[in-house]
Amino acid sequence: MNRREFLGAAAVASLAAQQGGEWGGPVVDIHLHPRRTAGDSFLHVEGCGATRAVLLTNLRDADKAKGEIALRPDRFIWFAATDPSQPGNFEALQKALDDGARGIGEMKNHTTADAKDMRRVYDMCAERKVPVLIHFQETSKFTGEEGWNTGFSNFDKVLKAHKKTTFIGHANFFWAAISTDLARESEYPAGPVKPGGVTDKWLSEYPNLWGDLSANSGNNALSRDPEFARSFLKRHQNKLMFGSDCSCRDGKGTGSGALLPRLKNKCVGRDTLGLLKELTTPDVFRKITWTNAVNLLKI
Ligand SMILES: [Zn+2]
Ligand SMILES: [Zn+2]
Repeated sequence: MNRREFLGAAAVASLAAQQGGEWGGPVVDIHLHPRRTAGDSFLHVEGCGATRAVLLTNLRDADKAKGEIALRPDRFIWFAATDPSQPGNFEALQKALDDGARGIGEMKNHTTADAKDMRRVYDMCAERKVPVLIHFQETSKFTGEEGWNTGFSNFDKVLKAHKKTTFIGHANFFWAAISTDLARESEYPAGPVKPGGVTDKWLSEYPNLWGDLSANSGNNALSRDPEFARSFLKRHQNKLMFGSDCSCRDGKGTGSGALLPRLKNKCVGRDTLGLLKELTTPDVFRKITWTNAVNLLKI
C-alpha cells in the first residue's frame, strides 16, 4: 500500500468509526487525561466505544498529549492546565494556547474558584475564545485533602462577572449541587434529588455555564434518581457533554479504580454512556455525546 492508498484507507476507516460504532454514531469523550505511553489513551477511547477525545493535560504532561495527537491527529485535541498562582504559569497557559491547546482545563488547584489568579485565567479564556473546565470540590473524605476550586455556592457572581467566558463545570460538588439538600462535604450523595439545586438553576440562567458529565460524580448525578435525571438531561440537552475521566486501561473496566460501589471494576465512561442511552431520546443522546462538544470546541 502506498502512502496515498494508506491515507485513503485510514480516512474510510475513520469515517466508518464515526458513523456507526456501538453507540449508534460518533462519541467524543471531553474528559480524558493523557496516559503514560502514546497510544494508550486511544485504547480507552476505542474500548468504551468513543471516537474522539479531549486530553485534559497538566502542562507537565504536555509531551504525552502531543505524542498521542501526533499518532492520531484526527482523534484528539488537548486542553492545558496548571496552577495559575505560581510564577510564570499564566504565561505558560497562554503559550499552550499558542501551541494548539483548544481550552484550559481541568483546573484543579487548592484555591477558591473566584481567586484573582483564576479570574485572570477566565479573562484570558474570554479573550482567546476558549472554554475553561473546572473541578469543583469542597472537601474529600476519601483523601482527607482540602478542596479544589472551592466556593461553588457563590459561583454565580463569577458567571455574572465573566459573561464572555465559557465555563464547563465538573466534579463532586458541581454534581452534588443539582440537589438543594447538600452538605459542604457532599461527594456522592445517594437517593432522590431535591429539586432547585444551584447547578440546575444556573445551567438554566447562565448561557456561559456548561456541564461535563464525567467521573464518578457525573455518573452518580445520573444514577441516583433516574426520574430527575431524565428531566435534567432534557432541560439542559444543549449544554451537557459526555466525558469519562476514567482511569481504567481499556474502556472495559480493566484496572478501574472507580470509587462508587456500583462502578466497581467497571469503566466509568462506558457506564455513563449506558445511563445516557437509557435516560434520553436518541436526539438528545447525540447532542450530549457528540454535537454539543463538536460545536463548542469546533472539532
Ligand atoms: Zn476532576
Ligand atoms: Zn474506562
